Amino acid sequence: MSFDVQKIRLDFPILQRKVNGYPLVYFDNAATSQKPQIVIDSIVDYYSNYNSNIHRGVHALSQEATDVYELARKKIQHHFNAKHSHEIIFTSGTTHGINIVASGYSKLLKKGDEIIVSAMEHHSNIVPWQMLCEETGAVLKVIPMNEEGVLIMSEYDNLLSSKTKLVFVNHVSNALGTINPIKEIIEKAHQYDAKVLVDGAQACSHISSNFQDLDVDFYVASAHKMCGPTGVGFLYGKSDLLNDLPPYQGGGEMIKEVTFKKTTYADLPHKFEAGTPNISGGIAFGVALDYLNAIGIDAINSFENELLDYATQKLLEIEGLKIYGTGKNKTAVISFNIDGIHPYDIGTIVDKLGIAVRTGHHCAQPIMEFFKIPGTVRASFAFYNTKTEIDNFIEAIKKAKMMLS
Ligand SMILES: *Cc1c(COP(=O)(O)O)cnc(C)c1O
Repeated sequence: MSFDVQKIRLDFPILQRKVNGYPLVYFDNAATSQKPQIVIDSIVDYYSNYNSNIHRGVHALSQEATDVYELARKKIQHHFNAKHSHEIIFTSGTTHGINIVASGYSKLLKKGDEIIVSAMEHHSNIVPWQMLCEETGAVLKVIPMNEEGVLIMSEYDNLLSSKTKLVFVNHVSNALGTINPIKEIIEKAHQYDAKVLVDGAQACSHISSNFQDLDVDFYVASAHKMCGPTGVGFLYGKSDLLNDLPPYQGGGEMIKEVTFKKTTYADLPHKFEAGTPNISGGIAFGVALDYLNAIGIDAINSFENELLDYATQKLLEIEGLKIYGTGKNKTAVISFNIDGIHPYDIGTIVDKLGIAVRTGHHCAQPIMEFFKIPGTVRASFAFYNTKTEIDNFIEAIKKAKMMLS
């Protein structure tokens, strides 16, 4: 199947709209992706036709909703090649998934244990571990990166020891686009019997992942960055690890039996799914995965790489422009600054021309500190973006530069 971006764009109603009188150019995909009509329709369909609570009722609607919701779990399992569907825990998103694991390990770690994170983590993959260290007396170590925004693997080797219990790293950096060598990171951690959690929030809509092949222990992501709705995501964990982890929240759905003497917990995945979940969100997440798979993650990846190369080359023609994150292995994210101009001012001017980019620290302040900058302008592309949009963006950047310098 050939990749027809114009045809794909018709699936996304929002791409038809104008912003400030100009056709919308949406280059903030690393913050959240847009949604195809089929995903939006699946939410309306649930509420219009079979809205009901799941896993509880014997009545027809409840059965129907449960079946579709559980089918979505299986879609996630198959998409990422997890061994069992009960290893997929529905969450409200990446942050929630990380917190389930961090909170569980607060009961399992002891003083002097070590946790390793990378220098390019999102705040949501730093703060929970700092809280965990404070609580347990474990020590946080950081894998540094080089000027290209690539992790220095020899330093990782030096940090690993028999004290290492956990390693947390993102698959792709949201601020730089760097794809981290997670297979190697996992292999090395396992030599010391340490467990690895990969934050895949930024990876899943751009590159494919095979959990069993990676031998990853925990993997988290959010639907909203993969054409699905906000408020839903998943935590994958190997079943023996999830079984050993204490539950995160108490409530309905996560119990086997409750008496005032003692409560026994439900089996996976329900042990971690207390309360009524985001049912329509889970269902729509499944539809989003079907949509992405119909196009193909590999086709998406190669088209986005074309956009990345094209935009990188055009941007570097602008004098005084510096790109952060220049490693060979990256997704279609470009973080940059222009000499003497604050990123926020550039973002404001291009917005007036209908172009949505992100400016600021991108929830990754340690990266900004490393490069000694207040923030960057970040353009992040998706498979529904075009070279024409990039041309418009380049013109807008040139205009902003002229006005601001
Ligand atoms: C977006 C993002 C998160 C946070 O995801 P939420 O959906 O806000 O929970 C975490 N890590 C990375 C790398 C991200 O890009």
